[in-house]
Amino acid sequence: MDGITKWNAREGVWQMHAKKLKCWKCNWEGALAMKYECPVCGNSLEVVYDYEEVNKENLEKALSGCSGLWSFTELLPVRNPEHIISLNEGATPLYRSSEEFECQVYWKDETRNPTLSFKDRPNSVGISVAKEFGFQNVSIASTGNGGASLSAYAAKGKMQCHICIPESTPQGKVVQAEYHGAELVLCKGDYSDSYQYNKQQSEKNKWANMTSTYLNPYTMEGDKTIAYELFIQLGRKVPEWVVVPLGAGAMLTGIYKGFVELKRLGFCSELPKMIGVQAEGCAPIVDAWLNKQDEVQHWDKCRTIAGAIADPLKGYEKDGTRTLHCIYESKGAAVKVSDKEIMYWVKQLAERDGLFVEPASASAVAAIAQLLKERVIKEDETAIGIITAHGLKDSEELEKYIEHAREDG
Ligand SMILES: *Cc1c(COP(=O)(O)O)cnc(C)c1O
Ligand SMILES: [Zn+2]
Repeated sequence: MDGITKWNAREGVWQMHAKKLKCWKCNWEGALAMKYECPVCGNSLEVVYDYEEVNKENLEKALSGCSGLWSFTELLPVRNPEHIISLNEGATPLYRSSEEFECQVYWKDETRNPTLSFKDRPNSVGISVAKEFGFQNVSIASTGNGGASLSAYAAKGKMQCHICIPESTPQGKVVQAEYHGAELVLCKGDYSDSYQYNKQQSEKNKWANMTSTYLNPYTMEGDKTIAYELFIQLGRKVPEWVVVPLGAGAMLTGIYKGFVELKRLGFCSELPKMIGVQAEGCAPIVDAWLNKQDEVQHWDKCRTIAGAIADPLKGYEKDGTRTLHCIYESKGAAVKVSDKEIMYWVKQLAERDGLFVEPASASAVAAIAQLLKERVIKEDETAIGIITAHGLKDSEELEKYIEHAREDG
């Protein structure tokens, strides 16, 4: 990356403070590169910054109003603004829930991102880094939203996009990706099969792999901006609980990293407790948590209406383990919810809050209701539900439920 002009709006210089990649498990460190695993132990990586070097004044300005993901450049891993590929992601609204819960509940409405899911955050950062490293091709294995999102960013950045998604992916997400011009492979089997096929193809063809498990270490840097925005929107407060639907869980770990950085930089003294949510029909991380295990085992057959979070983790169980450890570290919890509860809350959100969400997103709401009942979340506390994606992308599945309701009614 040497020779790239540094730039800053005011001084003509932009200093990037991202310095290294580090293994989350064994602390191996190495240079920033498009690298996917630790050469020593094979675990996933994370981006390390020189926090001493961060310009507090710039960051203070970014934390004084929500003006989008790329307002947080002090803590993002891109050196040259010309490499940024953005569709104006982030700065999503935070609403107080209309449902009367016994504690303060807010929805972080990620359906308002450009391609209607939070995946625009990790993809905008990941693809910008890929551009900076000189890649022309990007790839992703996805349950649908990640692929639809990356294809839009690749179109905007004039790059080629290669996507592997399970055959069962909702049509709305497939059509989105096709219109943006992505090369699409519909894989037999579940998400883990798509993951393996894409990994193989990406290695062979030297594509930058954006797969949103922990495979790509830069995408989590997009997820973490949810934490910065929550901090701003809550009036510079850290919530007691952040409730997150889990695939492999990079979003959960990313949000936690965002708060850890704010603490490290002296903006707050607390950290939130992270709650990971999975559907009963695919809950490898929750089961490991319930059994107080140290490692996550993969799941055999995923069966749930919440397709976007149906990740059996076959072959990359260690990614689930990383999420499990983040939940332990934050003193949080893991919860599984039934499809019936999920669909109840899809309907409630639509009827009471005016939010039309896909089943995976409603799992966070179902979890909050459950944890209040179990008195894990207490009355005077604040809980944030991350509403991850819009219902229109999964309307066939939701249509079935409405027909069912019509018959019943
Ligand atoms: C990808 C996705 C998730 C899970 O995010 P991970 O970072 O993979 O854990 C949750 N909800 C929706 C709608 C998604 O598309
Ligand atoms: Zn390692």
